[in-house]
Amino acid sequence: MQTAVPSWMDLTESEAADRAKELGLPGFRGRQVWAWLHRKHAASYEEMTDLPQTLREELQETMPLMLPMSAGVQRSRIDGTVKYLFELPDGCLIESVLMQYQHGFTVCISSQVGCRMGCKFCASTLDGWERDLTPGEMLGQVYAIEREEQIPVSHIVVMGCGEPFDNYDNVLRFLTILHEPKGQNMSYRNMTVSTCGLLEPLKRWTKEAPPVTLAISLHAPNDVIRRTLMPIANRVSMEALLEACRAYVRATNRRITFEYALAEGVNDSRANAEELAERLKGLLCHVNLIPVNPVTERKLKGPEQKRVQAFRKVLEEKHVPVTVRRELGTDIDGACGQLRRRYRLETEVNQ
Ligand code: SF4
Repeated sequence: MQTAVPSWMDLTESEAADRAKELGLPGFRGRQVWAWLHRKHAASYEEMTDLPQTLREELQETMPLMLPMSAGVQRSRIDGTVKYLFELPDGCLIESVLMQYQHGFTVCISSQVGCRMGCKFCASTLDGWERDLTPGEMLGQVYAIEREEQIPVSHIVVMGCGEPFDNYDNVLRFLTILHEPKGQNMSYRNMTVSTCGLLEPLKRWTKEAPPVTLAISLHAPNDVIRRTLMPIANRVSMEALLEACRAYVRATNRRITFEYALAEGVNDSRANAEELAERLKGLLCHVNLIPVNPVTERKLKGPEQKRVQAFRKVLEEKHVPVTVRRELGTDIDGACGQLRRRYRLETEVNQ
C-alpha cells in the first residue's frame, strides 16, 4: 500500500469498521462511509448525508478521499467506446476505457502508472514505470466511470497501463473488494487479469487467485519472435511460460485466454499460425487475435482483415478455439497509453 494513511477505498467493509474504531468512532460509521464509496460511488463526504456534518468535516481533514479526477474524455462516434484520462491526487495520469458489449459494460483499468515491461506494440511503456496503483485507485476508475455515465459496469479487465503481476498484492486486493457483496458485488467470473507472463507471480496466482479469467499476452509462436516484441521473453522462455500455464489449468481447471496481437510481417504468417497451434495443442485455452493498434512511436501495424482471417482459419483447422477481437475505438487514441502520452506531451509543449 503506498498511501501513508490507508484510504477507505483500499479497505474491505470489515476493515473500514475497524478503521473507524481506530479513529475513535463507532464501527458502523466506517461501514456507512464504505457503503457510500463502494456501493453508491460518492465523490465527496458532503454527499454522505447520513453522517453528521461535523463528522464529514473531521473526516475531510483526517482521511481525505483522494479519488481520481477526470482530466479528459474521448468518445468514439463509431462504437460508443469511451476513453478516460484520470489525474490522481499526486498529479500522475492514468487511462481507463469503457466498452459496450452485448453482455454489458466492461471497464478496462490501469494497474500502474506507466509500465516497465517494454512491449514494443504498447504506448504505456514508452515513458517507463512511475509507480504502482493502490487498490483504491483501481476501484476509483470503475466507480468514477459508473458515476459519470450512470451505467452499471458488469465486467472489468485489468489490461490497461501496467503489468498486473508487477503489482500483485494490490491487484488481488482490488479484485477482492470489487467482489464484496455489500459493495460493487461483481462476480469473479466477470473479471479478467492479463499478464505478460511473469513466472513466479503466475505460480503464486495458480495457488491463491480467485476464479477470475487469466489472460496471457503471448503474441508470438516462438521465443525468437517473442523476444523482438516483448523483453520479458528474454527472461522467461515460452516453454517455461506454457508449462506454468499447464500447471495453472491442472490446478484450477480454468481455461486460459492467450492474447495474440497480430503485427504485419512479424507474427502473422501461416507458418506462425501453424507453429502456435502446435504449441498450444492439448491445452485448455482460447486464443484472442488482436490486430495491433498503430502506435506513432513504433513501426508496427495491424495486418489486413484477409490476413487476420487466414490466421484464424489455421487455428480453427487445428482445433484451437479462437476469436478475433472486435476493434473498438479506432477513431480515438485506441492503443493502451496513447491518450495519456499525448496529453502529457501537449501539456509539456504548452508550458
Ligand atoms: S502491453 Fe502491458 S505489460 Fe506490455 S508494456 Fe504495455 S502495459 Fe506493460
